Amino acid sequence: MDRLTQLENMARKKGCAVLREEPMSRHTTFRIGGPADLFLTVPEEEALAALLQEAANLEIPLFPLGNGSNLLVSDKGIRGAVFTLDGSFRKIESKGEFLICGAAAQLSAVSTAAAEHSLTGAQFLCGIPGSVGGAVLMNAGAYGGEIGAILVQARHIFPDGTIGSFSSEEIGFSYRHTVYMDNGAIILGAQLRLAPGNAEQIRSEIRELLRKRREKQPLEYPSAGSIFKRPAGHFAGALIEQCGLKGTRIGGAQVSEKHAGFIINRGGATCADVLALISLIQERVLHETGIALECEVKRVGEA
Ligand SMILES: Cc1cc2nc3c(=O)[nH]c(=O)nc-3n(C[C@H](O)[C@H](O)[C@H](O)COP(=O)(O)OP(=O)(O)OC[C@H]3O[C@@H](n4cnc5c(N)ncnc54)[C@H](O)[C@@H]3O)c2cc1C
Repeated sequence: MDRLTQLENMARKKGCAVLREEPMSRHTTFRIGGPADLFLTVPEEEALAALLQEAANLEIPLFPLGNGSNLLVSDKGIRGAVFTLDGSFRKIESKGEFLICGAAAQLSAVSTAAAEHSLTGAQFLCGIPGSVGGAVLMNAGAYGGEIGAILVQARHIFPDGTIGSFSSEEIGFSYRHTVYMDNGAIILGAQLRLAPGNAEQIRSEIRELLRKRREKQPLEYPSAGSIFKRPAGHFAGALIEQCGLKGTRIGGAQVSEKHAGFIINRGGATCADVLALISLIQERVLHETGIALECEVKRVGEA
């Protein structure tokens, strides 16, 4: 029996849903990406711990997927296994001013739950189409808020099975960076501290933030959000627009006419199209402004 089949059998026994040769384009907001050899949906912690151990024994690489909203997956796909968390990982519980969220909880659900419990401070999460796990790893933020600023601690499991937690300080939140990007841990959940507020006021702020996004961002097309990090003292979108690149298209990938910081999939875009457009933008912006744009979106898969 080959190693992938051994991992597949073990995952089924632990209650995971299993798919073979699953197109990653079905699991990324860009709608781009070739097949993952094995795609596993993990329902709870014990199954995850067993999966990590078995994959290590079999030397099969594992890739943790959140909502796929910050990923550019290769056209050749991902070798080994991709797994995503579900079931009990989606839970959101409130305890006083704290929300305890599983890694698979949607950020929109977190901001709605906070409003339901009259807790303020999580409104900025409402329009970010990620999960708690992906948001903690990326230190996701918007409209002046960052998840690092409201997080008390995160629970995690290392590939060797060690379960633990890190405080906000230990996670070392900075602009779109945390220690989780470098230490290989899988985030299991996060405890957020919010403040008492007025539910109606919170809901109205959420509606306003969503309205702003619909107005400014090309939400009608698949994308991975802002493709570049914000360079110090500038906005990537403004620099790209200044260089006359709005609307520039390579294959199915286009610099959005609505917000030049977004590359959108106009239909049938490949990872190669997006990479070629990223290079073109980086070269032109560097040449014309002297500023080097760094990708925020994570590239994954077989080169
Ligand atoms: C329309 C649009 C608007 C956006 N707006 C914003 C915005 O305003 N602000 C912002 O910060 N981002 C924004 N994003 C980007 C994206 O939503 C965030 O980066 C989000 O936090 C990614 O979460 P995810 O669950 O989709 O992670 P994914 O894209 O699935 O993964 C991102 C990284 O996190 C890792 N990961 C995911 N889950 C776990 C886990 N449990 N444990 C360990 N690692 C994990 C993955 O391996 C990967 O390296 C936007 C994206 C889109 C499409």
